[in-house]
Amino acid sequence: MSELLQQQSEILERLSESATLAMTRKSRELSAKGVHVVNLSLGEPDFETPDFIKEAAKEAIDQNYTHYMPVNGYDDVRKAIAAKFRRDNNIDYTAEQIVVSTGAKQSIINVILSTVNSDDEVILPAPYWVSYIEMVKIAGAKPVVIPSTIDRAYKFSAAELESYITPKTRMLVFSSPCNPSGSVWSEAELREIAAVVAKHPRLLVISDEIYEHIVYGAANFSMASIPEVYDQVITVNGVAKGWAMTGWRIGYIGAPLWIAKACTKLQGQFTSGASSIAQRATKAAVEADPKATHHMRDTFAERREIVSALLKEIPGLEVNKPEGAFYLFPDVSAYFGASFDGNIIANADDLAEYLLSEGHVALVSGGAFGSPDCLRISYAASEADLRESIKRLKAAFAKLKK
Ligand code: PMP
Repeated sequence: MSELLQQQSEILERLSESATLAMTRKSRELSAKGVHVVNLSLGEPDFETPDFIKEAAKEAIDQNYTHYMPVNGYDDVRKAIAAKFRRDNNIDYTAEQIVVSTGAKQSIINVILSTVNSDDEVILPAPYWVSYIEMVKIAGAKPVVIPSTIDRAYKFSAAELESYITPKTRMLVFSSPCNPSGSVWSEAELREIAAVVAKHPRLLVISDEIYEHIVYGAANFSMASIPEVYDQVITVNGVAKGWAMTGWRIGYIGAPLWIAKACTKLQGQFTSGASSIAQRATKAAVEADPKATHHMRDTFAERREIVSALLKEIPGLEVNKPEGAFYLFPDVSAYFGASFDGNIIANADDLAEYLLSEGHVALVSGGAFGSPDCLRISYAASEADLRESIKRLKAAFAKLKK
């Protein structure tokens, strides 16, 4: 085949492979060779979708929800989502302000491609979810990263945000609860951030609340519930994490009407709408009492205690205390410069590779999340696997020589 034929598009040239998916691939490759790998690189609950949701999907098939749907989602599904926003988030959206998409991932790229231009700046407080930065690159815009450290629970402040805003700033994108740090911004912190946002009339905010049901302290607070910034905030949510529905691929936004319309226009050319059956299942999920998710949250909370206590036994690791999601994000920089068999561990990428090849534990380097001093450990795994993996990690870290 000629090189001329195999020319990738400029967009593709700008993109990196998803680091989390890459780690999963490498761990599968090792498993295929017969190595028993414990995989803590995944971003999905290890629970099954609740039965009443599966039943709703089966009924949908029997009722012939098998045709094209309205591009922005079924009317009654969008109404149910609007009611969910009022019930859980204290936000008033009409059904017209809701767009249902193929996963929150599509919801986010829809919003970015609908509102961001190529010379715009998009502020990403680090650590950020891996895909945000790639999506900003797809739009041809400039990612502007606000760094953070463990001593501040990996959070950004209102004052920091303000100092990064320029006349070119179009958008702020962040998740709370945060993937990868598990940090949760309090209502008071979000009110301070909103006060800065309100001062900048061209600034939009994507508030990614996909982990809202997985919080260990105070309930999730939604920035769009603050009237002063209602017109500037797009609330992203979905059923993947809280309802253990990653494979159903449904996410949604609540947004100012013009943005909902723009996303619908875009989506009409991309997918025509999200799966009919998965939308019917989503209706059952968002109409249900979120208490039905609490057993999963409580299990995650127990695991968080177990894993953080065990990780703290590894010398040199600084371990954070996440308040939501199902990740720990220890600072491992004390090991940079250490070596094994003559190979130097220069950074978290090297460390993640080493822990996979020597320790047979798959984790994700913080580099992909904009925090190169850290590793992300998902505790969405069984207690037995978690205990085994920490034992392996301990042994692998002990072999590193400074
Ligand atoms: N936002 C965050 C912060 C996430 O962690 C994820 C999933 N890893 C998504 C969005 C995408 O969710 P979905 O599976 O609904 O596309």
